[in-house]
Amino acid sequence: MTAQLIDGNALSRQLRANVSARVTALKAKGITPGLAVILVGDNPASQVYVRNKVKACEDTGMHSVLERWPATLSEAELLARVDALNQDTTIHGILVQLPLPAHIDAQKVIEAISPAKDVDGFHIASAGALMTGMPGFWPCTPYGCMKMLESIGYELKGKHAVVIGRSNIVGKPMALMLLQQNATVTICHSSTQDLKALTLQADVIVAAVGKRNVLTADMVKPGAVVLDVGMNRNDEGKLCGDVDFDGVKDVASWITPVPGGVGPMTITMLMVNTLESAERLVA
Ligand code: NAP
Repeated sequence: MTAQLIDGNALSRQLRANVSARVTALKAKGITPGLAVILVGDNPASQVYVRNKVKACEDTGMHSVLERWPATLSEAELLARVDALNQDTTIHGILVQLPLPAHIDAQKVIEAISPAKDVDGFHIASAGALMTGMPGFWPCTPYGCMKMLESIGYELKGKHAVVIGRSNIVGKPMALMLLQQNATVTICHSSTQDLKALTLQADVIVAAVGKRNVLTADMVKPGAVVLDVGMNRNDEGKLCGDVDFDGVKDVASWITPVPGGVGPMTITMLMVNTLESAERLVA
């Protein structure tokens, strides 16, 4: 079998066109959705991420504010900026780019963001809402994975999904979203014994580890759907995922590439969350 690609760029274009249309409709009601992005320090990868987020706002017609602060910014000063943005009625989503410098408690900063503007979905209130099935913002990367499954018409009910990785931003919320769609979910991590025995039982595998070749063809049941969240560099310095794409594509039914898979979906879902935050004002 040669798997079909789930094209994150194509799906993103489609979803962002829908976002743009809804932004236009909201503007006609006097509301321009606004995203504030705070970057502290000069981490090169973070600079690329925030630029892409601001550009996505511009492309979809949203208002955006990019605040750049030196790495010497104190925690109290950052908390004061978050508080000001919580009060700012032109801002519907606040994102503090991680990682933060070591002298700042990232969790404290995330908890300072108003849950109503927590478009990254990292606030403890957002995590609780996801866990209990209440309305709230879903973390963008696993939310994007769910949209990818939806785009291929995949019915999760009764299927066995294996999530590799249990971080608060990807693995755990991913597992909860799959569970909410009535999949039977197994969560694997660095202490998991015999990962292959578990992945071989899976109808859906989400790899979110951050290590190359965590999932190889011999670990995949024929016909499984494979989503690759990982972002790594290969020996030539090129971006690659956690999945041995060339091997696994011959076994899976559907697979996401890296690049061009889950990556673009993350920013797209950030746009969706920011738009929905603004839409709640007129709902
Ligand atoms: P993380 O916080 O480092 O978590 C990695 C997880 O993988 C941990 O739960 C760890 O287990 C588990 N793990 C490590 N080695 C393992 C192994 N050999 N077998 C099974 N599980 C193992 O990373 P993250 O933030 O979730 O990100 C994961 C990857 O996704 C990274 O490559 C990151 O760059 C990428 N990512 C991509 C996007 C995107 O937009 N495409 C967004 C976010 C993240 P323990 O808990 O036991 O340590």
